[in-house]
Amino acid sequence: MEFFQLHHPLNATVLCDRKGCEQVADYLEVDDHGHEYRLCAMHTDSKTHSSRLPTRKPSPDLPFRSRPADWTVGGTSAPSKL
Ligand SMILES: [Zn+2]
Repeated sequence: MEFFQLHHPLNATVLCDRKGCEQVADYLEVDDHGHEYRLCAMHTDSKTHSSRLPTRKPSPDLPFRSRPADWTVGGTSAPSKL
């Protein structure tokens, strides 16, 4: 198993692959068969913080769940423009 810091596309935030998890995926795990998994800090097996791992882009044909980069976290929506 290899661990990388997940490279996010410019206009999207990639979410964790685990079912029901809506956390941002910070880790890219590559297993011995070359399968790639995007996981959040809670679900990764990495003992190293993502900021200390090399960055890597997932393979382009790997579908991912995402939300727009401007999606607000914490339940407070952005104030509407006056
Ligand atoms: Zn997760």
